[in-house]
This record gives sequence, C-alpha cells and structure tokens, in this order.
Amino acid sequence: MENSDAELKEKIINLKKGRNAIILAHNYQLGEIQDIADFVGDSLGLSQNAARTEADVIVFCGVHFMAETASILCPDKVVLLPDMHAGCPMANMITAKRLREKKKEHPKATVVCYINSSVAVKAESDVCCTSANAAKIVEKLSDTEEILFVPDQYLGNYISTKTGRKMILWPGFCPTHVRIQPQAISRRKAEHPQAKVVVHPECRPEVIALADEALSTGGMCRFAHETEAKEIIVGTEIGIIYRLRRENPGKIFIPASEQAVCPNMKLITLERVLWSLQEMTPEIKVPEKIRLKAKAAVDKMLEIV
Ligand code: SF4
Repeated sequence: MENSDAELKEKIINLKKGRNAIILAHNYQLGEIQDIADFVGDSLGLSQNAARTEADVIVFCGVHFMAETASILCPDKVVLLPDMHAGCPMANMITAKRLREKKKEHPKATVVCYINSSVAVKAESDVCCTSANAAKIVEKLSDTEEILFVPDQYLGNYISTKTGRKMILWPGFCPTHVRIQPQAISRRKAEHPQAKVVVHPECRPEVIALADEALSTGGMCRFAHETEAKEIIVGTEIGIIYRLRRENPGKIFIPASEQAVCPNMKLITLERVLWSLQEMTPEIKVPEKIRLKAKAAVDKMLEIV
C-alpha cells in the first residue's frame, strides 16, 4: 500500500533526525518539499546555510549544480541529491572544454560565471555571481579589459544594460524562463491593472522591459513583504508562488505564465527524499582538485559582495 503524504513526511522527519541530516529546498520545489525543509531559499543561500550547520548530511532538494555548490562549500558533509536526473539544461549549455576554447579567443577576458553552472565550469572561471549580486560583481571589475559572462545570455544582457558594461555573452538560456512571453505579461497586466510585476532576470529582455522590477528569487520574497501592492504578477518558475502565498497570506500572487515550470525541479518528490535518506544515495561529491579551483571563484564572489 502506498504511503500518504503525511506518513511520508513523518518517516522523513524521523529518519532525518536519525541521520543528523538537514533538508534544503530551492524556492522552485514542490510545496510538499518546501514544507519538510529546514531552509527554503536560493541556491547560494541554501549552501551557505548548510555550511553553518552541525548536520552531517545535506539533502539538497534542487538540481545538480546546487548540490555541487553545497559540496564545494561543505566538503566534509555527505550531500545527497534525491534524483540524479535533476539537472539544469542551462548549466548543460556550456562545458569546461568549450569555455577553455573561448578563453583562448579572449585571453584577456575575466570570466564571470553565474552560479547556475557545473563545478567544472566554475573551476575555469575567475569569479562567480548570483542573479542577486551579478551587477555588483561586474561593477567591481571596472579595471578589467574584457568580461566573458557565462552561461546565461539573458542575465548577462540585463546586467550589461544595468551597469553600462559591454560583455561577451555565452549564448545559454533557461528554457523555463524563456517560456514566459511578453504577451503573457501584457495579458496579466490588463487583467490586474493594480498589480506590480516582478520578473527574474533570466527572462527575455522584452519581458523584463514590461516589469516593475527584475529580481532574484530572494529579492522577490523581500519585495513581496515590503510592497504596498496587494496583487503581484510573478514572472519566474511557478514553485515560488507556494512560498510567496504562505509568507504573505493577505496578498494575491499571480503567475505570469502557467508554462513556467522547470521539470527538473519537480523530479524531487517526498518518495525520492525518503528513499535517498534510507539508502544514503545518490551522493554528490566533488573531486578535491576541481573543488578547490571552483571554490576560489565562489570565494572571490563572497569577498566582493
Ligand atoms: S529553472 Fe532554469 S536555471 Fe533553474 S534549474 Fe530549471 S532550467 Fe536550470
């Protein structure tokens, strides 16, 4: 007989205690996963939380590069990703080999790497950034001759517009965020004329142009608390709506597009989390040599912000 959600949750909580584990969930995870998490947040914030805890085991409910980042920052802990197939198509749009080739074409370029990338790509980069701190990182690089921004062209383009700094952009993109079309924003605005529009900078420029704010997921959560607006149109992966509604019961959150679903994020289910904790697999372990190189790029970012 199948377990109910309540039974699964109880089993997970008990096993988590037994394993001295911590459960981290990205803002795009299913509601039931957010409910059992010790922390819900963005990928870097979650890894930093993990590094601060006494837990021996981290169950990372997110995608592969996020679990890798946790492993980079917490090499002595066991990092579990409940489904090995939970990858990120945007992170897969660049490889370390192709980046090395590009670097040869631009030997003087400083490589700024969005955190949504593999450990191998981070290891080939000079500094990492998140969508929340990318502008600040780029501004700090005012002395550098050229900047190569990887892998998200839309985030890169947005930061370029914001800072006035020209950059070489890798042609990657998030397939989930490009599903949000400008027409969808216009339609929602017509339906909710009083609403504020927030979108993620991974969206297309035409979408960002229609928004009141382009914000990281953490920025959206803060905006939702602080704004006087009662209705907010949200242009990012729809998993965040669950968190926004839970934290702001008096406000109305409208997904800009119901199509903005990341299928990889949704691979993590209660059954997978329970199985992962029972079997202590699949473990994400970054080899030490590559970890140290990637960590240098992450540390450089933390030093700047
Ligand atoms: S939402 Fe986009 S960037 Fe995030 S994991 Fe999914 S595909 Fe990757």
